[in-house]
Amino acid sequence: KRLEKLLNTPARIYYKYEGVSPAGSHKANTAVPQVWYNAQQGVKNVVTETGAGQWGSSLAFACALFGLNCEVWQVRTSYDQKPYRKLMMETWGAKVHPSPSGLTKSGQRVLEKDPSSPGSLGIAISEAVEIAAANADTKYCLGSVLNHVLLHQTVIGEECIKQLEAFGETPDVIIGCTGGGSNFAGLVFPFIREKLSGKIDPVIRAVEPEACPSLTKGVYAYDYGDTAGMTPLMKMHTLGHDFVPDPIHAGGLRYHGMSPLVSHVYELGFMEVTSMPQTECFEGAIKFARSEGLIAAPEPAHAIAATIREALHCRDTGESKVIVMAMCGHGHFDLTSYEKYLQGSLVDLSFSEDKMQASLASIPRPVLL
Ligand SMILES: *Cc1c(COP(=O)(O)O)cnc(C)c1O
Repeated sequence: KRLEKLLNTPARIYYKYEGVSPAGSHKANTAVPQVWYNAQQGVKNVVTETGAGQWGSSLAFACALFGLNCEVWQVRTSYDQKPYRKLMMETWGAKVHPSPSGLTKSGQRVLEKDPSSPGSLGIAISEAVEIAAANADTKYCLGSVLNHVLLHQTVIGEECIKQLEAFGETPDVIIGCTGGGSNFAGLVFPFIREKLSGKIDPVIRAVEPEACPSLTKGVYAYDYGDTAGMTPLMKMHTLGHDFVPDPIHAGGLRYHGMSPLVSHVYELGFMEVTSMPQTECFEGAIKFARSEGLIAAPEPAHAIAATIREALHCRDTGESKVIVMAMCGHGHFDLTSYEKYLQGSLVDLSFSEDKMQASLASIPRPVLL
């Protein structure tokens, strides 16, 4: 209500807030079942990567619940920018390494080429997978992209459908940010089911960063999920597994690919995509904090900025659309990026077409599907 008033829009804005989980984002929705299944199988150790730190902390939290050991490779930029995420993981009992690290062959190869590499999710995945592949008692867990992760996250959309029904509302536009696609799919896939059965007809819109636009600029091809090429090939929208995005603050959106399911749904034409520069996202997040009171993580700041664009469009046209947004996590550990924005030193980072072309050259089957 207070954001609607601030924007002077006739649109009605709803957001589904996942920041109340112990680790502060939607990631616990899949961390808890994944660790539970591992515990049922008698697995003792799980390893993973983390970008912004939300996935690593959710997995560390879940491991604390079920008594498993947890080891996390955290992308270098976020390891440096967000020391409290690391401390959170350590508080829950996890071991944390900056990635690229000297502990794995994949990390060593990157460090040889570039000792000051900012890291990427693709590199960190290679490191964790390498450790899991070499140790029979250790399993790898992924926090996004894969089908089972998206399935676990649909609890968000299933709840939201019931909540909107309770309000007597029907969504016209549903918006979420996409890194690997899990919070977005978690919210929108149940609504797409309702749409396909003819009950509702909302516009479904993903928002990605301009600096890492896998859906808007990438190709649809078989590619690896990690930099070293250790994962199975996945049919997805990708910037190439070698692509290292500029270090934007939304670390969770710095992934070269998009989940195969979201890529498929995009190809079928069930959704649209837009990309946003990070300054507009922070401007939106500040408006949101000052009206609604919640401080968003830089990732959902993309969804907030796109929601504000839509609400302002409604102001201009006089349409009273119902906008539903995925507010997938809080930004309590991202305050250095807010500090930069408030000081005026946060800038938009570029996307280099040349860098993408160089990276696409190493896709195993560079076939545009
Ligand atoms: C991990 C994360 C993302 C990006 O991952 P998706 O799988 O695209 O959801 C976005 N926002 C938050 C708060 C996250 O923790």
